[in-house]
Amino acid sequence: MMSEETTPRLFSSASFDLFLSEHRLMGSRCTTCAATYLPPRAICPACLSDQMEWLQASGQGQLAAFTVIYSGPTFMVEQGFDRKNPYISGIVTLAEGPSISARITGLDPLKPEEIRIGSPLSVDFIDTGTGETHQTALAFRAA
Ligand SMILES: [Zn+2]
Repeated sequence: MMSEETTPRLFSSASFDLFLSEHRLMGSRCTTCAATYLPPRAICPACLSDQMEWLQASGQGQLAAFTVIYSGPTFMVEQGFDRKNPYISGIVTLAEGPSISARITGLDPLKPEEIRIGSPLSVDFIDTGTGETHQTALAFRAA
């Protein structure tokens, strides 16, 4: 499927972010040993091959770990998050195997005791800004 791409993209975090802005969760898969990486890697750490192909992740995963953030970075404060309105940052184990850090939505950060490790999650894309300042954050939403 990805061979239909008009312009090949480097297996880099910049490409990963560009795909995110298109609401696609993309990683790389080693064509030598089939290891999968999200974000993508250009060289396979497992077998040192540089024969990679793009892989679009299903967007399904499970919550592996989480932290409630009360004092976030500036761009989160600008989105209205603070001590009274915290948000959740987590590690998601993707159906394809790799784990990735992301915002977690659809769960109540004020009731962390009710959040279950292993909860099923689906990818969500959070857009902020427009034009030059447009950014897309990777998030996963609880079912
Ligand atoms: Zn490999």
